Amino acid sequence: MNITRRKFAQLMGAASVAAAVPYSIRAQSKPSVVVVGGGAGGATAARLIAKDSDGALDVTLVQDTPTYTSCFFSNLYLGGFRDFDSITHSYDDLANNYGINVVTGLATAVDRDARTVTMADGASVGYDRLVIAPGIDFKFDSVPGYSEADAEIAPHAWKGGSQTTLLKEKLDALEDGQNIIMVPPPNPYRCPPGPYERVSMMAHLLKSKGFTNSTITVLDVKPKFSKQGLFQAGWEKYYPGMVEWIAPEVHGGIINVDAKAGTVETDLDTFEGALLNIIPGQTAGDIAHAAGLTDDSGFCPIDATSMRSTVDENIFVVGDACIAGHMPKSGFSANSQGKVAAMNVRADLLKSKVFPAKFSNTCWSLIATEDGVKVGAQYEPIDGKITAIEESKFLSKGDESAQDRLATSMEADGWYNAMTSAMFK
Ligand SMILES: Cc1cc2nc3c(=O)[nH]c(=O)nc-3n(C[C@H](O)[C@H](O)[C@H](O)COP(=O)(O)OP(=O)(O)OC[C@H]3O[C@@H](n4cnc5c(N)ncnc54)[C@H](O)[C@@H]3O)c2cc1C
Repeated sequence: MNITRRKFAQLMGAASVAAAVPYSIRAQSKPSVVVVGGGAGGATAARLIAKDSDGALDVTLVQDTPTYTSCFFSNLYLGGFRDFDSITHSYDDLANNYGINVVTGLATAVDRDARTVTMADGASVGYDRLVIAPGIDFKFDSVPGYSEADAEIAPHAWKGGSQTTLLKEKLDALEDGQNIIMVPPPNPYRCPPGPYERVSMMAHLLKSKGFTNSTITVLDVKPKFSKQGLFQAGWEKYYPGMVEWIAPEVHGGIINVDAKAGTVETDLDTFEGALLNIIPGQTAGDIAHAAGLTDDSGFCPIDATSMRSTVDENIFVVGDACIAGHMPKSGFSANSQGKVAAMNVRADLLKSKVFPAKFSNTCWSLIATEDGVKVGAQYEPIDGKITAIEESKFLSKGDESAQDRLATSMEADGWYNAMTSAMFK
């Protein structure tokens, strides 16, 4: 349910008045929680805070788009395994089932002293506890020659929505013999195996159309990548001659991307593609910077036992925007962190019990039809850092049976359904 502008103004007015008074001395009003960002981390946190507090807290979820298109499984959309609707989700159930005030709009500032969030239209909403979960924004200048405007020509598609559909349109428009050039991002970035799953899915689509004269050249800026052996074996098996991954020590570095000309110049050569997929370096979402929650890394330091910002005790940061120790930036991780933050927010405001923080992650990737692989681990706070438990780590084996790979791909489908239910249902 999206509230009307008038109702929003009323709510904002009420919230600002309430915010002027610390919640502990507000005799009649409920403590209030604002969550900025309705993605894997934020929607999970908002839903759990509202659900488990059973009406004892006012929960507002601020999200800049009326629906959410997940980046997770967007590669399967590119490959033709999913349609766009299946990766796009409504916030209606969060409002209807749990009474969350879902506000569609961009949060532009946080006044940490007054404990208010300011919206792009000037409205403000007060909070007792704030969860910041904006995901990532881009460092466009990390790729020489590339700019935000160029993303309309050479899409990154590393945020869900119009970029995803733009890349799909360009992919679908390719003809046999036309080539794709991908430049993956430097570390740290969301979804370490994501670019390489995308290569697999683009190759799958081309092959399924019989376009085996087309190639995908990956000009990596990293010397190695997640699940490398598994992906490279898969490319060899399913898409022979179609995928070439070139390490930075071979191409010598990206000198210039010319999106209009469709070229990527490196020390080695100038590569030409009918489709360029350029994925720039990443940083915490703008609002995390505006709120002063980031450090020199561009991401937000947190207390590993609670996901509380080390900069402000009234604020929690979850998902890609935070520094999560050994955890990769993934939807699974963001969901896991959102649960820990939700428990601690409720404990702060309602004195509910806090259990020791435990985190987990699995990243599944589809290489071809019915061929899925995975990597993952459990994590705990150790010496102030979210740390992988050595014996819990796992990675698909190179010599697994076809049945195992099929089971892994089905497991991923199950995870997507469970994950999006934990966010939106
Ligand atoms: C191609 C690709 C494939 C992936 N595959 C997987 C996968 O298989 N499994 C997996 O676990 N992860 C995967 N990921 C990673 C996953 O998508 C992210 O790690 C995850 O979405 C992070 O969650 P988040 O809550 O931090 O950010 P997001 O899910 O991006 O949510 C943040 C939301 O906040 C909104 N927002 C930002 N700023 C504001 C603001 N100021 N005001 C209002 N709203 C705002 C954004 O629009 C966004 O909707 C993939 C990513 C990509 C790009």
